[in-house]
Amino acid sequence: MFNCALLAKWKRRMLSEEKGKWKEILASKYYTGGVRTEVSGNYSSWWWKDLFRACFEGEGEGWFQKSVVWNVGAGDIARFWEDAWVENYKLKTLFPRLFSVSLDQGKTVDEVGTWEEAGWNWRLSWRRPRFNWESAMEEDLLNLITGKRLCKESKDALIWNGEHDGVFSVKSAYLPLCSQANNGSQDIFSSLWQATTVPKALYTTWRILLGRLPTFDNLIRRGMVVNSPLCVFCKETQETTQHLFLECAYAQRVWSLCFRLLGISYVQHKDVLIHFESFHLSHLNVKQNQVWKGVWVTIVQSIWDQRNMVVFKQGTADVEEIFHLAQLSVWLKLKFGTTFFSYAFSDWILNPGECLQSC
Ligand SMILES: [Zn+2]
Repeated sequence: MFNCALLAKWKRRMLSEEKGKWKEILASKYYTGGVRTEVSGNYSSWWWKDLFRACFEGEGEGWFQKSVVWNVGAGDIARFWEDAWVENYKLKTLFPRLFSVSLDQGKTVDEVGTWEEAGWNWRLSWRRPRFNWESAMEEDLLNLITGKRLCKESKDALIWNGEHDGVFSVKSAYLPLCSQANNGSQDIFSSLWQATTVPKALYTTWRILLGRLPTFDNLIRRGMVVNSPLCVFCKETQETTQHLFLECAYAQRVWSLCFRLLGISYVQHKDVLIHFESFHLSHLNVKQNQVWKGVWVTIVQSIWDQRNMVVFKQGTADVEEIFHLAQLSVWLKLKFGTTFFSYAFSDWILNPGECLQSC
């Protein structure tokens, strides 16, 4: 493993430094592609094969790519969707649905827009018209990249993200490898997008995980005026994502109904990300856990819907209604949106645990 970290140091140097004797030799001898974090073609050199394996395959799969980010200049090297150049994320990871319908896959950043008199203008192209919820997502994407300014004069550069100052060291490469080997934890976003639920709920959760849901605290932070910053359910504490979905007595009762029905006791984490990640039952297989994650996402959507009804339509909060609507929504998705679920609604209401285990 330590060898992997050492080899990665070479890889990183080759990708980021423009000149240097060692690089000229390596480039002429072993490397024929452009400056990319992915490499194709057959390389007969044992050295290159080792390096490639260390960075992209086997136990180190993907870790190198996860640890480097792009500082975009002219945008002619980093790829728009596939490279991490916005807030340390790859856009295709943040917006997989949009990525799947994008005609800009594989393009460099500067190919997804044009220079105009007023400056840089983004121009994204799509395979088909977007659904409403996708358009909302596209707006989020544009908000995210609008602040990014391309600069014709400077070059795209790779930055090592393992240490705060962007400086690469063998130690900082070694640590993520160790933690990857220890827990093999999935990327939180990929586990979200695999959850069995409706797109609208996925979108809401996605915004929650990124801290972008328009809860009162977020609106106030953005300089907007709200009538009252208090949680509309309990009217006692400021509405934050953490309070609304986890800490509020109303939310707690919704989660209790869920756990009681399944006959499980659960340690409730106060952090939304950890709460979401911990929603995993060890006796269930991968597909069953995707359904279980879908339950989390649907409950959160149901809380958010009810909150919006109280805020915008002067409705009243009802814990049981929140939970029952989530139950119905999960069942509709399983029954009509999958091929592996055949239970009647009454079975689902009475024995969700059993239904879940036979998915
Ligand atoms: Zn509350």
